Amino acid sequence: MLLQGLHQDGRRLTPQRKRVLELFERLGTGNHLSAEDVHQQLAQLEMKVSLATVYRTLRLLANMGFLQELELSEGGRRFELSGAEHRDHHHVVCIRCGRTEEFESEPVLLAGAEAAKGFGFKLIESTLNVRAICPDCQSKAMV
Ligand SMILES: [Zn+2]
Ligand SMILES: [Zn+2]
Repeated sequence: MLLQGLHQDGRRLTPQRKRVLELFERLGTGNHLSAEDVHQQLAQLEMKVSLATVYRTLRLLANMGFLQELELSEGGRRFELSGAEHRDHHHVVCIRCGRTEEFESEPVLLAGAEAAKGFGFKLIESTLNVRAICPDCQSKAMV
């Protein structure tokens, strides 16, 4: 489905970009990968690609709308598959290890819609990224 949409777009994916996208599709929605994660997975598939290339590919796929980019302060950036049925969710992110969990919240969506309307903006999306420390990292900190 995704790859078909691309052709309608009139743009073509190089085999390498296709492989990266396929990696995300295999994992399914709700997985949040860093460029390092993707780089590692490609290495397991015996694809020799530099981290810089992986990063560029991820940014490109995000610009084309196939991936959604999450900006996390200390944790860097993560990417996830974007999909119509997987929009409007939010993230709790551990600032130490980057563990990312998803949640849904009607109030956040409403607040975003109201804020945009209040300023006369056309709403695109409202997402909330919560910075936190996961249970594992909390227990490490106490030792
Ligand atoms: Zn997500
Ligand atoms: Zn953690």
